[in-house]
Amino acid sequence: MHDIRDHEVRGEVRGAECRTTRAVMHDYLGRLLPARRERRFEAHMDACPACIRAFIDVRQASWVRRATAAAGSFPV
Ligand SMILES: [Zn+2]
Repeated sequence: MHDIRDHEVRGEVRGAECRTTRAVMHDYLGRLLPARRERRFEAHMDACPACIRAFIDVRQASWVRRATAAAGSFPV
């Protein structure tokens, strides 16, 4: 959760769309979003460096969890 607080402190959260994007990041990684929602997520990520950074943090955290669960599968 440190990423969200960090962006708010720096004034980078653009509003509802950013909040929505952060909220569905885990669902996106798990491919749980409907295609239409997925495209909206990707469109916002194209336009919003703050959300890209937050997404990288979330993705790395999920990689670490996966690598810990199945040692040897950590992507290099
Ligand atoms: Zn954003």
